[in-house]
Amino acid sequence: TDIEELLLSRIRDVADYPEPGVVFKDITPLLADPAAFTALTDALARTAERTGATKVVGLEARGFILAAPVAVRAGLGFIPVRKAGKLPGATLSQAYDLEYGSAEIEVHAEDLSGDDRVLVVDDVLATGGTAEASLQLIRRAGAEVAGLAVLMELGFLGGRARLEPALAGAPLEAL
Ligand code: 5GP
Repeated sequence: TDIEELLLSRIRDVADYPEPGVVFKDITPLLADPAAFTALTDALARTAERTGATKVVGLEARGFILAAPVAVRAGLGFIPVRKAGKLPGATLSQAYDLEYGSAEIEVHAEDLSGDDRVLVVDDVLATGGTAEASLQLIRRAGAEVAGLAVLMELGFLGGRARLEPALAGAPLEAL
């Protein structure tokens, strides 16, 4: 579609970042273009409405930039899922494996309840490890997963297949 072409045209490939052999998808040109950023926000807000979400979770750090305007546009609350040690209140934590070592993400426990349906928003789905941990965190907080929405999915890394159990039938939408 026209929107897909607009969004794709504003994502820059950066070779050998953050390490040799990796092509990094840089979304800063899209953020700097008000037409593209607005089109992305509107599309994600429609996803929030379509999936019946009651809250929008953004994954640190680029997920915050996308999820916050989506929450405002859709009239929903925004909830940050952060790297361990950044949230001041009582948290739930979820560890996950990286290629080398492991990482941990957290959410304020009081931000989610059993009544919530949560749409998770991030910029890029790569291996799916980060998204998978966030879905586990949301379920452990007692909330329901409305879906996962990303700007871009790197299909060759197999994230979609990895996420199938954690999504448990909830939609994964990649714009
Ligand atoms: P995963 O856990 O799926 O392997 O990695 C996804 C996380 O790493 C996302 O939070 C995403 O922001 C970041 N990420 C991985 N690769 C890229 C990339 O090429 N471009 C951008 N913008 N983020 C990436």
